[in-house]
Amino acid sequence: MKNIILFGAPGCGKGTQASKLVERYSLIHTSTGDLLRAEIKNKTELGRKAQVFMKKGELVADEVVIGMINNKINNNKTAKGFIFDGFPRTVKQAIALDKLLEKLEKPIVKTLMIKVKEEELTRRLKNRAIEQNRPDDQNEEVIQNRIKIYLEKTLPVADYYTKQNKLVEIKGEGTVDDIFERISKQLLS
Ligand code: ADP
Repeated sequence: MKNIILFGAPGCGKGTQASKLVERYSLIHTSTGDLLRAEIKNKTELGRKAQVFMKKGELVADEVVIGMINNKINNNKTAKGFIFDGFPRTVKQAIALDKLLEKLEKPIVKTLMIKVKEEELTRRLKNRAIEQNRPDDQNEEVIQNRIKIYLEKTLPVADYYTKQNKLVEIKGEGTVDDIFERISKQLLS
């Protein structure tokens, strides 16, 4: 099993790259954002609660997302590996993920940090608002809040993996294929 994390700010291209990686390497794409949106669509209690935070660009509680990841891992024990996208977003989530994977003796092998300039992120999120009609991309204030929360709460996760010697930076500007090739190179090394 080869477990990797795609890490980076909202709009850096994690989801786009994850879909391409899944095709090439037969890994399981695990996006907490997608899992949460599915809960909202299915009108579950969890979805109803999560939506309040997502609409404002705030993080959903650690316990909730860790629980979802726990289920996903346990339901796919024979998987070749997972690509985590949008998780972990706090150091607490990163510690919990390490513990869950420790039980399977299949640690994270690499955390790929996709780096994109802030003005480009904002531009991409505004485009996505039109293309995918996501409520949290519609409003400039919510976009700015998500970037702020990324810098405050999520960026420390990069240090967490640097200390484990697992963080690799990827230039996230250029074409989707260019970025994909940069990522693939890292996965083969
Ligand atoms: P983006 O691609 O813009 O980062 P995501 O689809 O990953 O968006 O996440 C959308 C929203 O879902 C986040 O703003 C947050 O409210 C919630 N969310 C997703 N993943 C997590 C997580 N790991 N921890 C807490 N909240 C999360």
